[in-house]
Amino acid sequence: SDVLEGKVAIVTGAASGIGRASALLFAREGAAVVAADLADALDETVAAIIAEGGRALAVRADAGEEADVVALVGRAVAEYGGLDIFFANAGVTGGMVGGYFDATPAVWMETLRVNLIGPFLAVKHGAPAIKERGGGAIICTASVAGLRAGAGPAQYSASKAGVINLVQTASQELAGTGVRVNAICPGLIETGMTRFAYDGARAVGKADRIGRMNPMLRGGEPDEIASAALFLASPAASYVNGHALVVDGGLSTS
Ligand code: NAD
Repeated sequence: SDVLEGKVAIVTGAASGIGRASALLFAREGAAVVAADLADALDETVAAIIAEGGRALAVRADAGEEADVVALVGRAVAEYGGLDIFFANAGVTGGMVGGYFDATPAVWMETLRVNLIGPFLAVKHGAPAIKERGGGAIICTASVAGLRAGAGPAQYSASKAGVINLVQTASQELAGTGVRVNAICPGLIETGMTRFAYDGARAVGKADRIGRMNPMLRGGEPDEIASAALFLASPAASYVNGHALVVDGGLSTS
């Protein structure tokens, strides 16, 4: 297991869920990981990587704030000598209050800032550093919610649809530089973001109902998204570009 040997990877949203699982997997595969988040649990992710003998450092960074993303890339270059992989994964739902149109513009702005401006900043500031290494990969976490309406609050779905389109534009812009840009569209995965739904279902003894909504009769695990991110980050995906990889157990086809 050394698919990412000698590589340097930034992972945002690394304190929890998909980001945490990906940071651990990338490190196991040999990458030096710059783990970014705003939550304190970030330190636990980095401690877990180091306990396994991996290389990682924690950076408090707001993934939707330009100065923070610039500093994040700078940190990767300063500490590990460059950047090969940027996994723009941090995300928020904005929450669901009442009906779809009861959300405020402020909720929309914040959701778009983190979920869509975040990946834009990853491309804007990650790509030049990755180019300097002769190429690499940018991966953005979208969602099946970005493929069609109804799988989340409207601001969330719209932000994720934007990510899928952004990845297409960025992949075209960067084609020829060796920087590939792809998205992952997870289905329902049990993480901090969806725990309320799982806990709610368990509280009324209906935990299995969440699974039954899926053709595979279960929800997904963070590790199953991390392994898709690893594929897109690795040379195994050398001809995969501008793609939105659906990892949802078949949910979006049913
Ligand atoms: P999570 O809540 O467990 O993890 C998200 C992490 O992002 C948290 O640690 C949070 O602190 C961090 N974060 C939020 N805003 C941030 C910001 N501005 N700057 C830096 N970090 C920030 O949830 P998750 O499910 O692991 O989410 C990861 C990604 O997967 C998100 O983009 C989410 O939209 C996407 N996704 C999740 C699911 C699912 O079912 N869980 C499905 C589809 C897509």
